[in-house]
Amino acid sequence: MVIVMREGAEASEIERVVRAVEELGLRPHRSDGELRSVVGVVGDVSRLSEEVFLRLPGVEQVVRLEQPYKLASRAFRPEGSRVWAGPVEVGGPGIVVMAGPCSVESREQLLEAAQAVREAGAAVLRGGAFKPRTSPYSFQGLGAEGLRLLAEARQRTGLPVVTEVMAPQEVELVAEYADVLQVGTRNMQNFSLLKELGRAGKPVLLKRGMSATVEEWLLAAEYVLSHGNPDVILCERGIRTFEHATRNTLDLSAVPLVKRLSHLPVVVDPSHATGLWELVTPMALAAVAAGADGLLVEVHPDPSQALSDGRQSLRPDRLARLVEQADAVAQAVGRWILRPEHVAAPRRAAAAGR
Ligand code: PEP
Ligand code: MN
Repeated sequence: MVIVMREGAEASEIERVVRAVEELGLRPHRSDGELRSVVGVVGDVSRLSEEVFLRLPGVEQVVRLEQPYKLASRAFRPEGSRVWAGPVEVGGPGIVVMAGPCSVESREQLLEAAQAVREAGAAVLRGGAFKPRTSPYSFQGLGAEGLRLLAEARQRTGLPVVTEVMAPQEVELVAEYADVLQVGTRNMQNFSLLKELGRAGKPVLLKRGMSATVEEWLLAAEYVLSHGNPDVILCERGIRTFEHATRNTLDLSAVPLVKRLSHLPVVVDPSHATGLWELVTPMALAAVAAGADGLLVEVHPDPSQALSDGRQSLRPDRLARLVEQADAVAQAVGRWILRPEHVAAPRRAAAAGR
């Protein structure tokens, strides 16, 4: 259930609604939008009449939600959410390119990649330190050393960093270094991890499970939201189908669908979705046309030498071309690619007291 307050409702009226929810043994989740506030009600509301809230001052409307996810639903924040990846806004009109190597392999490789993706127009650096590899014999990532290198790359380029966290007990460590914590496809339903991320104090980039339905994906987001973290970015990265000519099948229709169902920003990863670098740019352009708020792209200074996912990694010069073309597509749908040089130097999130 979502209680929608009137435009310009008094703070005391909103607080009264929050108290009323608590007094009924339910959990209130308040969200203050630019125009109006809403209070999400979590708990068993099946026998509760809307009237209980409708008669409180300042309440405009009470919406009963059909979907099992509540805080992730569009009704909870009709104007859409904007999530700050360090100084970079995700979910606003500017489309954010997040790029970098699949894995942090060495200091030299990462610093070269970071500089190159910035020059190509990426506003966020990606790179895995803890790697969820299918085989235990594959390169497992540099771990904590990789996190330190990512922090150094951020310091040198000014790009905020997104990196994966695989285990609940590693959340605190990864959150010390990263601007955004990535949940990989294999962990989308690791509920202990999702609960811990609710308390992480950093935004979460939640990849869609490779066999997850849209509803399961939004319920995974609901775990993070309901455990106290309002900053979730969804990432469509392809799902498993009978088709093996590509690594996964990019479910592009999920982008406009999820934008309707949820207020959360949605980004697309055309690298893992296709597994083939030749398909990355066309699918990135299609994602922008479909309404994606960002792209997550694997880029390596020398893809033939990559320790993971070289086959799907772009060379930096190809990323530069992708960004140019994506900007043209973005302009056609009334948006643009957010360039690193246009990112405000002072951290907006910090300035807003968050
Ligand atoms: C990655 O981003 O490097 C990664 C492992 O992605 P996914 O979880 O989507 O396979
Ligand atoms: Mn990868």
